[in-house]
Amino acid sequence: MTLIIDGKKLSNDIKNELLEKTTELIETTGVVPGLVVLQLGEDPASSVYVNSKQKTCKELGYHSIVHRIPAESSEEEVLSLVEKWNNDSTIHGILVQLPLPKHIDEQKVITTIDPNKDVDGFHPHNVGKLVIGLKGPIPCTPYGIVEMLKRYNIETSGKHTVVVGRSNIVGKPIANIMYQKKEYANSIVTICHSASKNISEFTKQADILIVAVGVPNLIKKEDIKEGVVIIDVGINRIDADNEKGYKIVGDVDYDDVFEKCSAITPVPGGVGRMTIAMLMQNTYNSAYEASKTI
Ligand code: NDP
Repeated sequence: MTLIIDGKKLSNDIKNELLEKTTELIETTGVVPGLVVLQLGEDPASSVYVNSKQKTCKELGYHSIVHRIPAESSEEEVLSLVEKWNNDSTIHGILVQLPLPKHIDEQKVITTIDPNKDVDGFHPHNVGKLVIGLKGPIPCTPYGIVEMLKRYNIETSGKHTVVVGRSNIVGKPIANIMYQKKEYANSIVTICHSASKNISEFTKQADILIVAVGVPNLIKKEDIKEGVVIIDVGINRIDADNEKGYKIVGDVDYDDVFEKCSAITPVPGGVGRMTIAMLMQNTYNSAYEASKTI
């Protein structure tokens, strides 16, 4: 029978664990984990994510700031806000909601964030740590995938993990994690991207298939082998004959592959649910490290 990897349940478990640890941290050290989210402009999809980050912070007892500025704000203004929060001891995590408007250099903003407060794990310093296997913040979506594999006891060592997609936020970090000589990884990794001529040739070899592309229902049953574990990162909105007029689907054709795979993350209710929980985990970790220095 196919196992459904339940991101909703796992993320709730993680949040409950964090609530307990946060209460203890506050009681023993007085340090309240603090997260600031900077949003430029009022893109409705970004606002949904930002509001849900703020709501989760409140549930966990974190100090939470959402700072919204107009999309036309200058790069200097963004950099000076980041510098201000770098020097604010009540803030342990700084998150700049991406993508940024075109007139702002995204990399410049990311590299201005103090690596110790880089709860997205996008700073080159932390990317380097991840590649060489040192402890540091892991980008939230890949971190969520690792937790799913760990908490469902999915064997990864010596397995062939195929990652489709090579973005800096999902594909590259998860591929770099999966080959690490660590208990929860130790895989043989193949990465596919838009220049891969026939991805099916590769995806069919996967014991673990991680898909982060942004193309609805790209992977069908003829693209996988019997018994594969599928982690579907995609979040795609497609037209549907329902009240809303749309529905959310992944990059994997869930109904088509379901009987053939041994485990799968649903969309929605899979990886997406984990991302915010892991942002909270990274913020807690950063606050915990800061508490050791006072
Ligand atoms: P990007 O657009 O940044 O990257 C997509 C990647 O897929 C690129 O590497 C691209 O290749 C590759 N690609 C595009 N088309 C194909 C194809 N036909 N065959 C093989 N590879 C292809 O996307 P993200 O990584 O940011 O996001 C991917 C998906 O995951 C989206 O649906 C997004 O909404 C979702 N997402 C979900 C999150 C969650 O919390 N669950 C978090 C982040 C993203 P190339 O590099 O050559 O262009």
